[in-house]
Amino acid sequence: MVTNIASPASHFIKEIILEDLKTDKYQGRVHTRFPPEPNGYLHIGHAKSICLNFGLAKEFGGLCNLRFDDTNPTKEEVEYVESIKEDVRWLGFSWDDREFYASDYFEQLFDFAVQLIKNGKAYVCDLTADEVREYRGTLTEPGKDSPYRNRLVEENLDLFARMRAGEFEDGSRTLRAKIDMAHPNINKRDPVMYRILKASHHRTGARWCIYPSYDYAHGQSDSLEGITHSICTLEFEDHRPLYDWFLDALGIHHPQQIEFARLNLTYTVISKRKLLKLVQEGHVSGWDDQRMPTISGLRRRGYTPESIRNFCDRIGVAKSNSIVDISLLEHCLREDLNKRAQRVMAVLRPLKVIIDNYPENQVEELDAINNPEDSSMGTRKVPFSKVLYIERDDFREDPPKKFYRLAPGREVRLRYGYFITCIGVVRDEKTGEIIELHCTYDPETRGGDSPDGRKVKATLHWVSAAQALEAEVRLYDHLFLKSIPGEEEERNFKAALNPDSLVALSSCKVEPSLAQAAPGIPFQFERQGYFCLDAVDSTGGKRVFNRTVPLKDSWAKIEKGEKS
Ligand code: ATP
Ligand code: MG
Repeated sequence: MVTNIASPASHFIKEIILEDLKTDKYQGRVHTRFPPEPNGYLHIGHAKSICLNFGLAKEFGGLCNLRFDDTNPTKEEVEYVESIKEDVRWLGFSWDDREFYASDYFEQLFDFAVQLIKNGKAYVCDLTADEVREYRGTLTEPGKDSPYRNRLVEENLDLFARMRAGEFEDGSRTLRAKIDMAHPNINKRDPVMYRILKASHHRTGARWCIYPSYDYAHGQSDSLEGITHSICTLEFEDHRPLYDWFLDALGIHHPQQIEFARLNLTYTVISKRKLLKLVQEGHVSGWDDQRMPTISGLRRRGYTPESIRNFCDRIGVAKSNSIVDISLLEHCLREDLNKRAQRVMAVLRPLKVIIDNYPENQVEELDAINNPEDSSMGTRKVPFSKVLYIERDDFREDPPKKFYRLAPGREVRLRYGYFITCIGVVRDEKTGEIIELHCTYDPETRGGDSPDGRKVKATLHWVSAAQALEAEVRLYDHLFLKSIPGEEEERNFKAALNPDSLVALSSCKVEPSLAQAAPGIPFQFERQGYFCLDAVDSTGGKRVFNRTVPLKDSWAKIEKGEKS
């Protein structure tokens, strides 16, 4: 029966779980966890891990915990904990009451360490951090035993207790596992289990001055929570033998660790350390800057949880590293927004149009379709009057070949409105810049068609001047210039950053229905792209719209190219 559970998008981790269910390895249980360290905001890579862990639990009727791996008090903060919870929830997943912290296990982890000391499997070492490194050896050379390796159990117990009591200076002693300094896997050359660090922890305060290493805490935390499948990224493959060693030495529940390839995206850095640097050096406005690949940045920009979950499904789960084209993420976003976004008209770079033969002071309410993909979204009224705005780009005084939009003497359609013909151009006397157009309209073409069957080659969007709302519109591009930002970016972000990643247009004109815009509600500005109201900067009557993504779909093109 279990073999039918796997969905068509199967992958090697599902296969492992199916096999474990068949052999009853964990009495039919599937229990995963998402284990972030609260030292930064979550990014799109974490979304892959969240979708995988919570998704597997859901698919197999199991559970997924949220566990904060908070073993490093100097880098961790409550702000990060709160943001992580908000992001996981927003992505659509629930951990119910299973919100755990490695710091909740500090007492138990200490007892486990005492047990290992008693069994002769751990010792207190007085080497400095530099010396420990020096003694460790290299990939090609074995390490050397620490001179403190053969301390007696009693002495180790005494010293470890005094480490905890705060008798020694930071960094003066460590507790190390006693494994094998010549082991081919460097992780098993007597790794550090505890270090002295007189730092206050965001949850345990000043209670502890020794903290477990990640490598010691992680596996035992999984075990204490009864995790069955401990899923992590490939860089932990070499740590697995160490995690296994601890679990076996302690004789406790043994989860199965499984490694998968982390997500990499073109034009994007995905690493909390690098993202923190972008924030600290002021290259972006914060973790939730609309150009950041963080969940909070994507949310603010207008991404939907559905589009991110769909993206995570599409990229799959593999065992070897690769780089995903960011246009696939954008494609998933468009697919979702196309279904749900209300169409509206907004003019980003306004050019005034006066319709000379239209009655002064007349305002008509024209019917406009909210979403051609979804008739249940209905229609709305848009006001039409004598003075309008169109997009500056939609007019050329001297139109090149294949430019079908407005030009002197030419007739075009105004969406949902009338056919208009340009009969005059007014320039600024000093600068020569075109400041307004004069047009005539054909009253017979109301709604957008001519009874005499006359055809026009272009349909323009527009906004009626008197009723238009003012708005700032922000257009975004990739934060980095190179498709694969490398190490040099880290050293010198400035050189690698795209100087045009943000273009802010301050005097845009949008149709009056956008008075009801609220953060989280997507709109399609006709002919331009998908937009949403910015949740942070739209204050005090100021309206700021983020361009979530332009209409043009480069992924669809790539896919077409591949197929043909
Ligand atoms: P970073 O490399 O960005 O600092 P991290 O791995 O240190 O991330 P954690 O808080 O430890 O961040 O990550 C929590 C979980 O998310 C881990 O299980 C980790 O393997 C997973 N994860 C982190 N980055 C990615 C990624 N790019 N793709 C898939 N999973 C990821
Ligand atoms: Mg990590």
